Amino acid sequence: MGKTLKKSEKELSLYENVKLQFNLAKKIIKLDTGISKILETTMNELVVNFPVKMDNGSLEIFTGYRVQHNNALGPFKGGLRFHPDVDIDEMRALATWMTWKSAIVQIPFGGAKGGIQIDPSKYSKTELERISRRFTFALGNNIGPEYDIPAPDVNTNAMIMGWILDTYISTITPNNRQHCFHIVTGKPIGLGGSLGRDKATGQGVVFLIEQWAKETNFDLSKATYMVQGFGNVGSWSAKLLKNHGSKLVAIEDMTGAIFNSNGIDPDELSKYVKKTGGVKGFKKSEPLNHDSFLRTRADIFIPAALEKQITKKTAHLLNVKLIAEGANGPTDLAGDKILEEKGIHLIPDVLCNSGGVIVSYFEWLQNKRSEAWDIEQVDEKLSKKIINGYKRVQEMAEKHKCNWRTAAYIVALSHLETVYKERGIFP
Ligand code: NAD
Repeated sequence: MGKTLKKSEKELSLYENVKLQFNLAKKIIKLDTGISKILETTMNELVVNFPVKMDNGSLEIFTGYRVQHNNALGPFKGGLRFHPDVDIDEMRALATWMTWKSAIVQIPFGGAKGGIQIDPSKYSKTELERISRRFTFALGNNIGPEYDIPAPDVNTNAMIMGWILDTYISTITPNNRQHCFHIVTGKPIGLGGSLGRDKATGQGVVFLIEQWAKETNFDLSKATYMVQGFGNVGSWSAKLLKNHGSKLVAIEDMTGAIFNSNGIDPDELSKYVKKTGGVKGFKKSEPLNHDSFLRTRADIFIPAALEKQITKKTAHLLNVKLIAEGANGPTDLAGDKILEEKGIHLIPDVLCNSGGVIVSYFEWLQNKRSEAWDIEQVDEKLSKKIINGYKRVQEMAEKHKCNWRTAAYIVALSHLETVYKERGIFP
């Protein structure tokens, strides 16, 4: 066995990292002590163990989570993740970030996150369907269209949202079924999904990069960029940035990393990944190892995979001007410090990837009103909401002379503090 690490040497868990980020901001604004106690605690934590029949007739037990952090601003809202690393600590962190996101872009949602601890690649489509449906059944009325609304996240998609919707409405009384299509967002369009939801997170990332470029007089048509993760967020960010003439020079996913100084076409790569399952082996590129990928010289880096990628060990390798965090939690506190010292500007996750929850809000509204908005309307409203969030964060960073992550927390905490002061604490 390896030697036991001292506490100071131990890697912080994701949720410990969130608490440290929270503490930095709360000190600066002298957040009310009572309200701080509320916001640093999750409201509800649900762990469900449920049985599912496998294709070969055997039975397996799965563990699912739903953590509801806070609903002061509106119903709990947050994605569902299917991944082997899903655990209660990760869910707490991701649920908390959801609360901050909605507060920053000012939409009437709280924060939640859920998931199942599985490697979905090991299951057939029919098994995944039964797992998703049985998980929904196990959650029961702990989720609901006016109470807690799931959405896609890592390894979940519109098809899974469709199964969840169908299961949920099948378990409620028939006369209520037609009012409940807003139980999930990120649904297929035919089931009440919104145009623009699929690309929403990547579109939000690109709107923010455009804003940064405008303010810094940076010419995106000459820019180079690198992306980590080529799933929903990574592929859409890459494809939309290409429209400016920017050049994708390096990309990494769970199958490996690839590089081409002359540029990789994200649309061609997308077709290739659909066929092969990953970026590895794409013919118009050369392979890279992980460290060389991180060392790639580029103007913009979009992490769009998993957490804790930019840390004490890796942040010094980066050779970029801007990091736009498509993923949740890609940078830890030590990573932030190094990026600041290196003068790399960072658009933090709680602002940068909020396009997903913003368009989820639009989808939820359209379902409630039986409307279907066109794509121009969705994009225009998304742009307005996310750029207003950008300006709020920018203003706080200037006012408190702090980095953008702390500024984003300050925006969220100040808004929630005002709301709690206005409503008071029962009884
Ligand atoms: P996805 O499942 O569609 O794609 C995940 C990608 O990450 C895949 O390309 C996968 O190969 C890659 N990946 C996984 N492990 C990796 C590793 N160790 N190294 C490199 N690449 C790896 O997931 P997604 O929905 O695109 O989500 C990506 C990130 O964005 C997550 O942090 C998620 O929480 C966040 N996010 C997603 C949305 C959304 O609308 N989908 C919204 C906000 C934030």
